[in-house]
Amino acid sequence: MNRIYNFSAGPSMLPLPVLEKAASELVCYGNSGMSVMEMSHRSPDYEAIIKDAEIDLRKLMNIPDNYKVLFLQGGASTQFAAVPLNLLPVGGKADYIVSGQFSSKAYQEAQKYGDVVIAATSKGDNFTFVPKTTKESFRKDASYVHICFNNTIYGTKFPYIPDTGDIPLVADMSSCIISEPVDVSKFAVIYAGAQKNMAPAGLTVVIVREDLLGRSRPETPTMLDWKTMADNDSMYNTPPCYTIYIAKLVYEWILSLGGLDEMKKINSDKADLLYNYIDSQNYYIAPVKPESRSMMNITFVTGDAELDKKFASEASKAGFKNLKGHRSVGGMRASIYNAMPREGVALLVEFMKDFAKNNPKA
Ligand code: PMP
Repeated sequence: MNRIYNFSAGPSMLPLPVLEKAASELVCYGNSGMSVMEMSHRSPDYEAIIKDAEIDLRKLMNIPDNYKVLFLQGGASTQFAAVPLNLLPVGGKADYIVSGQFSSKAYQEAQKYGDVVIAATSKGDNFTFVPKTTKESFRKDASYVHICFNNTIYGTKFPYIPDTGDIPLVADMSSCIISEPVDVSKFAVIYAGAQKNMAPAGLTVVIVREDLLGRSRPETPTMLDWKTMADNDSMYNTPPCYTIYIAKLVYEWILSLGGLDEMKKINSDKADLLYNYIDSQNYYIAPVKPESRSMMNITFVTGDAELDKKFASEASKAGFKNLKGHRSVGGMRASIYNAMPREGVALLVEFMKDFAKNNPKA
């Protein structure tokens, strides 16, 4: 069977060499006589897998030694609550930059726990850009500032790292993690659901500066307390074993390509292919302001809802799946994460040209 080009925003494509390696080890991993799916998480074989996953992620992202790496469950959405539970003292303050739907959800969740405000938002402009901030945008006594670094639905990405002074900066990087290098030391906490760039769904990675551990509120569920997980090397309970194993294969794959510098080159080349075409003609319009464009999620519209619908349906028949925009914004969205081959984007551009020629606007 032929594999198609899957432009889904997540769960999304995994690198073919990773799937092939996983298939070759599916029934029997090494000399273990069993599948990784069947292994005790306390077995030496599995302990080596989770340790190697952490070593590889540290290498890839150049994570400083004073940060813990946690492999958790519950999706990025669970971290919307875990962040205030771990960082916001009773009666404390937190500031949120609301640049899309997920930062909006994170903000709403945090409101349950204290004095939580929106420091900046682009909501009034339909989230077509990432708001600019300065140190003065934030309350001096805020316990943390929260951002969503790449807005999956709107196709925007922070073109800068907010300067929050001494206030810890927390970033949801679900849809851009390990797509390019980031300076981890500029962030207090980074978290990400795995199902876009790292692994199948079921794993959430949290990278947290050690000095922030041990501050959780008394009511914090044990499972949401980062310190519990850090003290137990993510093995307080059964971790999402198989998903972590796939993440390890994905990290190895990126390291074999040359790491995140090389991944960025590949990703920006793919994104340029699509944006350059969109900018060169008038049929398709990219609603996002150029300085805020995401390299991972690329949104575009024809300006005619019926044509947009036809586009997504014909594209799907031609083997370009899941190009329909998120239900809250309409239009089209091409999610081109690490695993999307360049060829998939190049062929999509050819399809777009043909569609425009065959479907003139009224
Ligand atoms: N944050 C971002 C940026 C996302 O794209 C998503 C999922 N699409 C989420 C959070 C929610 O993640 P999960 O489904 O893992 O809870």
